[in-house]
Amino acid sequence: MSRRAIIAGAGVGGLSTALALSRTRFDVTIYEQAVALEEFGAGLQLTPNATRILARLGALEAVRESAMIPDAVYALRGSDDAVLMRLPLADAERRWGAPYLALHRADLQQALAQLAERDDRVELRLGSAVASVAPGEGRVHVELTQPLTTIEDAADLVIGADGLRSRVRRKFGAGPSDAPAFTGRVAFRATIPAHLVDSRWTEPQVILRLGPNAHLVHYPLRNGSIVNVVAVIEDTWRDGEPEHPWDGVADRPALERAFAGWSASTRRLLDAARSWRAWPLFGRPALGAFALAGRVALVGDAAHPMVPFLAQGAAQAIEDAGALGSALAGAATIPDALAAYSSARVARATRVQREALRQGRIYHLNGAMAAARDATMRLLGGRRLSARYDWLYGA
Ligand SMILES: Cc1cc2nc3c(=O)[nH]c(=O)nc-3n(C[C@H](O)[C@H](O)[C@H](O)COP(=O)(O)OP(=O)(O)OC[C@H]3O[C@@H](n4cnc5c(N)ncnc54)[C@H](O)[C@@H]3O)c2cc1C
Repeated sequence: MSRRAIIAGAGVGGLSTALALSRTRFDVTIYEQAVALEEFGAGLQLTPNATRILARLGALEAVRESAMIPDAVYALRGSDDAVLMRLPLADAERRWGAPYLALHRADLQQALAQLAERDDRVELRLGSAVASVAPGEGRVHVELTQPLTTIEDAADLVIGADGLRSRVRRKFGAGPSDAPAFTGRVAFRATIPAHLVDSRWTEPQVILRLGPNAHLVHYPLRNGSIVNVVAVIEDTWRDGEPEHPWDGVADRPALERAFAGWSASTRRLLDAARSWRAWPLFGRPALGAFALAGRVALVGDAAHPMVPFLAQGAAQAIEDAGALGSALAGAATIPDALAAYSSARVARATRVQREALRQGRIYHLNGAMAAARDATMRLLGGRRLSARYDWLYGA
């Protein structure tokens, strides 16, 4: 099998896939539209189903260096900080076979990019946007736009790791009905210097605060020097407003309205953030296959963008990379490998997409339904609730 691959996009999905393909002796060129891998984004939780694969790819140690290892997730009632549940994570490695980490997205991307740069089989070319993809006789042709020119390239395999608004998916997609759709939720994100927040919130713990129509997640990063905060509210987003999450202009009054009436400690935390970035959350219809046209496949958000309520956006992209590497190692031809990859991944990724939406609905319950949720959490306790994640983390 001739082995050269082109990957569109150097996010977590594209970089992990490059490492996985290199291990199956593919020469890989990653084309990334951005001219530099900059410090975008904020915190990510990396669950054991993902860290297990990073270990297999030889990337876990590098990633772990910049990560925080939380010892528990606490769920608090937003109105008064009553503890609803403590889900222990200190034994994650024993229980699920790999650690549970939290880290800055930029640190994860940098760690993966450095491994890719050190890998003789992987070439990373920045400032090169994949503009079109055309499958031909046993090869796939790609047109790329660069700041001053347009170039062409071809490979045996093309991977679309180009995120929510994937051009590769558009080329092979199901037409207008396949467009990203706003979910009615907006995530406000901030990182706060640790000295501005209560020292309790710099402990290695993930705190989830639940209230009507909103929730808040926070945890420390970078050796406790900053606290990552994500506040998710029900809000509007209209066509024409900034689309890209990281360009969003935060609607601070909407945030204040959503958290009026929450506990004093929640309010203090929100007040401590100097600047917020708004991230309108989008979904996309589930695909029936992640392999397109025999020699083209999708990974990560391009294949299955998901709301972040199960913390699985990056994790599922890493699972894709692991599955693609295994499929290519085990199949006689590239089309066979991509078919195997697709059937290994579609059902699980679609389930995770669906469960993440369900989790969001549970987090935002009101009135009697919220009281029932809180009582259930207290009754079951963290140990029994953590068993509900075995299918996800233990896979
Ligand atoms: C800038 C950014 C910051 C993020 N920060 C967070 C975060 O803090 N927390 C969180 O939970 N999730 C974050 N996400 C989402 C999360 O990273 C993804 O769910 C997950 O990592 C899946 O990654 P991905 O590689 O599939 O997609 P993405 O992370 O979206 O990466 C796609 C990459 O493809 C590039 N690209 C797009 N189109 C083209 C093209 N035509 N040609 C070449 N390259 C192209 C993009 O520039 C990007 O680098 C972020 C996404 C982005 C883009």
